[in-house]
Amino acid sequence: MKLSKPSELKIVDVNDVRNINQTVLLHLIRERQPISRVEIGKLTGLRPGTISSIVNRLIKKGVIFEGAEGPSSGGRKPTYLNVNAEAAYVLAVDIGVRDTAYAVSDFNGRILRQKSIITEGDAREFIDGLAAEIETLINGSYSRVKFAGVGVSVPGLIRRDKGEVAVSPNLGWSGLPIKQLLENKLDLPVYVENDANAAAFSELWYGPLDEIKVKTLLYILVVDGLGCGLIINGELHVGSKVGMGGFGHMCIEPNGERCSCGRKGCWETLASESATIARYHRLMSNKNGSITTSITDIIAAANRGDEKAAASLTATAEYLGEGIASLAHGLSPETVVIGGEIAAAWPLLGPIIKERVKSEYIIPEVARIEIRPASVQRPGLFGAIPVALQNYF
Ligand SMILES: [Zn+2]
Repeated sequence: MKLSKPSELKIVDVNDVRNINQTVLLHLIRERQPISRVEIGKLTGLRPGTISSIVNRLIKKGVIFEGAEGPSSGGRKPTYLNVNAEAAYVLAVDIGVRDTAYAVSDFNGRILRQKSIITEGDAREFIDGLAAEIETLINGSYSRVKFAGVGVSVPGLIRRDKGEVAVSPNLGWSGLPIKQLLENKLDLPVYVENDANAAAFSELWYGPLDEIKVKTLLYILVVDGLGCGLIINGELHVGSKVGMGGFGHMCIEPNGERCSCGRKGCWETLASESATIARYHRLMSNKNGSITTSITDIIAAANRGDEKAAASLTATAEYLGEGIASLAHGLSPETVVIGGEIAAAWPLLGPIIKERVKSEYIIPEVARIEIRPASVQRPGLFGAIPVALQNYF
């Protein structure tokens, strides 16, 4: 397969990037292959014309192929579609506040290799170092022409057209041209996406197939901050110039704590990982002994019967429910997904969040929203795979 150099690539139309049909359709073919166009229509609810145009484009790209013919039900015999797992590989990068994971995935969405490094130091030097690590990984085991591109998930606001981090308060980065820095070193097209948006994509690529018809999905990524990825009417909502993610700064407690954004009582100051950890520290303040610092430790402590750890998580669940209830009334999503390491405490959090959302309802339909934990553990990394692929077609 011949791949263009980044400099030769056309500017990707933002509409191509946002439309989820292609991602959803590939996810379905991958899981149910071999599958006919008619079955795809039945399962996705997409119109035959839409399916044909996407399928034809994917066949032309060599990422899916027509296999055996199925039995005729009167008319023309249907041909079954399969995914060509070897069509292309992608590199997924998930830049986190503590560590940065990078992985090679095949076209079946299977991760072939995964590694991670500590996120530290000067931003540009860090990206250069990351590029060198990726370079070593590719050169050691793969042919470069196999790679369709690099998808990067990063916490913060991004300028999608430039692939630049406009500002990331949690990383302390601003005006960082990640796309340009990585493309210069790797000579592959690089696509940068906000971590919560990438997380929303991870659900389209790895989520449950019974949600294949879902057109409006709200992803709440609970990390150091609190990000939101929103798929609305089958498109990723990217707002205006700079990518969205602002629901974390929705005010929940007008007299609450000061947020990194300068306002008071933002959702992020109450329901993020850092808020949960800070709450646990406050509850523990009269006690001697070691102070737990990670959300995973707090979840483990709660599972061992530590009441303060449980109380800290319970309060977070209440605040998550509070925010979701407000958003659900405005957006009426079919599915709300909660991701991040905190999702491991779902048996504790889930019922509280659901109850809180239910109690707030004025629209009966909102009560039927599916609220569930994320399908994958590291959504930024798994979401970076479809981010790279979206742009490849
Ligand atoms: Zn704020």
